[in-house]
Amino acid sequence: MDARGFRDFARAAVDYVADYLESIRERPVLPNVEPGYVQTLLPDEAPEHPEEWQDVLDDVDRVVMPGVTHWHSPHFHAFYPTANSYPAIVGEILSAGIGCVGFSWISSPACTELETTMMDWLGKLLALPKEFLNSSDGPGGGVIQGSASESSLIALLVAKDRTVQRIKKERPEWDDETIKAKLVAYTSDQSNSSVEKAGILGSMRMRLLPTDDKCSFRGTTLMEAVERDEAQGLIPCIVIATLGTTVTCAFDNLTELGPICSQKHIWLHVDAAYAGAAFVCPEFRHLMAGLEFTDSFNFSPHKWLLVNSDCSAMWLKNANDLVDAFSVDRIYLKHQKQGVAPDYRNWQIALGRRFRSMKLWFVLRLYGASGLRKHIRKQVALAQAFEKMVTADPRFLVLILVLNASLGLVCFRVKGPESFTKKLQEALFRSGKIYVIPGTYHGIYMIRFVVCSRFTEERDLQYAWKEICDQTDQIIADGQKIKADNAFLKDNVWESLQNGKMIPINGAN
Ligand SMILES: *Cc1c(COP(=O)(O)O)cnc(C)c1O
Repeated sequence: MDARGFRDFARAAVDYVADYLESIRERPVLPNVEPGYVQTLLPDEAPEHPEEWQDVLDDVDRVVMPGVTHWHSPHFHAFYPTANSYPAIVGEILSAGIGCVGFSWISSPACTELETTMMDWLGKLLALPKEFLNSSDGPGGGVIQGSASESSLIALLVAKDRTVQRIKKERPEWDDETIKAKLVAYTSDQSNSSVEKAGILGSMRMRLLPTDDKCSFRGTTLMEAVERDEAQGLIPCIVIATLGTTVTCAFDNLTELGPICSQKHIWLHVDAAYAGAAFVCPEFRHLMAGLEFTDSFNFSPHKWLLVNSDCSAMWLKNANDLVDAFSVDRIYLKHQKQGVAPDYRNWQIALGRRFRSMKLWFVLRLYGASGLRKHIRKQVALAQAFEKMVTADPRFLVLILVLNASLGLVCFRVKGPESFTKKLQEALFRSGKIYVIPGTYHGIYMIRFVVCSRFTEERDLQYAWKEICDQTDQIIADGQKIKADNAFLKDNVWESLQNGKMIPINGAN
C-alpha cells in the first residue's frame, strides 16, 4: 500500500468509526455469538496474495462487529467505563504515524518531554500534592503506564527494593534473599484483582484485610496486621490502598493508613484507577484526603477521563527510588544527555514505549479543564438520577456508602430473598437489552449499575429502568411462593446504612 492507498483506506476507516459511534445506540449491547465463531468465518491461513482494503473493511462488518460487546453503547452499564473520545482517537492515529519508541530521552525527545509536561498538567488538574510534579524542585514525577495493574506491580517492586536497601543497613548479616523472603504487602479484601496479582508476580505475601461497613480499609485493621507480622519476624513493606474500589466504589481511609505507613517505613501506593478522574472537580477532592502521605498514586485516564486505552497515570514522590530499583545500563542505551531528562525505560517494565502522551495532550486541549469537569459532573448527575428511580420504588434497596450514587455507580438489590436479585441479573443478561454485572456487599448479592458511555442520556436511564422493572415484575410474580430465607436480615443491613446507622455486618452473611 502506498500513501495514496493509505489516504483512501484511512479516510474510509475514519468514516466507519464515526458512523459506528453515531449509531451505536441502535445496536444490541451484548453480542449473540458462541466461542469459536470467528474461526468459522475466516480461512485457516493468511492469504498468499495481497487483498483489497475494501474487502478487509467489509469483513470488519461481517466478522468483527457480530462479536463486539459495545462498551460505548449508552446501554452498557457493566464494570467501569473505558474511555473513548474523538480527540484521543486522532491522537492515536498521529502517535501510530510517528511510530517512535521513547525508551530514553534521545530515542525521541518529544515523546519524553510531552509526557513529562502532560503529567504535570494532569497532576495540577487533580490538585495533587506538589511533590508529585516533575516541575517541583524535589525528586517527584509522573509517568504514563499501560495499566493500573502495572502501576501496582511497579510500586510493589520499588517498595521491595527500597525496603531491602533499608534493612540491609540495619541487619548487615542478612543477604537480599533473606530479607525478600520476610516482606509483606497489605491491601483490603475489596481491592482489585490486579493488586493480589501484583503480589503473585512480585513474589510477596499479600494480606487481604477486612473492611468496615463502608467497605473502607481502616487504620486499626492495618495496625493489628502489621503488629502480628512483626511479632513473627516478618517485615511490612507496602500498603496498596484503593480510592474507588471496583465493586462498590468505596474509599480506603488514607488519613488513618498514611501515618501508620510513615511511622513503619511502609510504602503507601494508592490505586484510584476509576475514581481518580473525579478529582478534576473540586467538590470530590475530599475523597482523596490523606494523599499527602502516599509514596505513589495511580489513576487511569483511560477509564473515566476520555483518553482511549492505554493511558494510566502514575506519580511518585521520589522517582529516584524507582530509577535505583529498575535501572540496568547497556552501552547501546547510553546517551550524552543522560540524567538531565528522565529516561522513562527506568520507570516501567518494558524497554520500548509508545507515544501515549499525544492523545492525552489532545484530550486536555480539545475538552479543556472545564470540558472534563462537565463530563464527570454529567455522568455523576445521571447516576444520581438513576438512583432516585430505584430508591423511589419500594421493591428495591440501594446501597449507600459515602456518597449518594458513588460517583457513576449505583448498587441495588430486590427486597426479599437473594434469589430475586440473582434471577433479575440472569434475566437482564438473557434479554441483553442492557449490560449490568453483579457484585457483593459483605456477602450480599447485588447488581451494579454504572453510567459508562459518554453517549448516555436521561432517556437511556428510562430505557434501562423500564427493562429492570419489567423483569422484576415477572420475577416477583413467579416468586411469591418462595419463603423469605434470611431476607429480612439482609434488607435490614442496607436500610440502616441508608439511615446512617452502624450495625454489625457479620450477621448478614
Ligand atoms: C479497573 C481497575 C483496575 C485495573 O485496571 P487496568 O488498567 O486494567 O490494570 C485496578 N484497580 C481498580 C480500582 C480498578 O477499578
